Amino acid sequence: MGPKRRHRIRKAILQWYGTCGRELPWRKTKNPYRVLVSEIMLQQTQVHRVLQKYPQFLRRFPDFPSLAHGRRSNVILAWRGMGYNNRAVRLHLLARQVVEKHHGRLPSSYEELIQLPGIGRCTANALLSLGGRNAAAVVDINVRRVFSRVPFAMDTTADLIPEKVAWTIAEELVPRGNAYTWNQALMDLGATICTKSAPKCGDCPVAKFCSSRKHMRPIRVRLSRSEPSYGGIPNRIHRGKIVEELRRLNGKGGITRETLGKRVLTKYTSHNEKWLKGILAGLEKDGLVKALGKNGERISLA
Ligand code: SF4
Repeated sequence: MGPKRRHRIRKAILQWYGTCGRELPWRKTKNPYRVLVSEIMLQQTQVHRVLQKYPQFLRRFPDFPSLAHGRRSNVILAWRGMGYNNRAVRLHLLARQVVEKHHGRLPSSYEELIQLPGIGRCTANALLSLGGRNAAAVVDINVRRVFSRVPFAMDTTADLIPEKVAWTIAEELVPRGNAYTWNQALMDLGATICTKSAPKCGDCPVAKFCSSRKHMRPIRVRLSRSEPSYGGIPNRIHRGKIVEELRRLNGKGGITRETLGKRVLTKYTSHNEKWLKGILAGLEKDGLVKALGKNGERISLA
């Protein structure tokens, strides 16, 4: 992509964002902790759900020290409704590391950020672009979709360029001094206009630069890969149900494995015990639950 075309695409997207960008609370702050919490929440949860939970979580844990010194079980409780509970554990660990190793301040270099639990390239760059000085690109699935469709003629709405290529384009396009706004604009464009299966090309600010607009065929997104399951239900869902059952105890002790099994599986019997033990072992390893009592017969949040 030549410099002139790059400039025109940037200008069109930024202008569109200026009038059509979503008003989201984490865009009104430069507080690294608040932005970090939003970034972690948005990794695997949709914006409308994050909008509900974000203020509640921040009221409970307003900064790194309050989160670092909070009990793990309370952090998991506050994560209720977000799904993918491992993120709560990683965020808790991250806050502890920030307090213990970085005097309560989020480090400012990519190398240090990437060492923290739960922070990958995308989140590290989003945080680096916050100050406005770093030309740090971000590629999430929304950005990848835009960078697939604009420069390359995609056959169907399910096609995407390799992630590595998307990063190269992102780094080429990110404007120095305005990276944060640019990254937010791209994510909004992918989330609201250049959507997965029904892009609104008629409303798109870069329609005239887009190589896919005319010939791309809508197609249902391929079914997700198979995942470990039990009784036809993915273990991921069972894990979520177990954590939710333990949340209901509100920090009051634990419950027996058998009671937990009966609450999670409608027809729980001793035949299911081996499976349940395996799931609980995984949750314990991930720091989400703990076994109580001499023989570990009671289970509670970690
Ligand atoms: S014109 Fe359509 S396919 Fe191309 S970037 Fe815009 S919304 Fe996406």
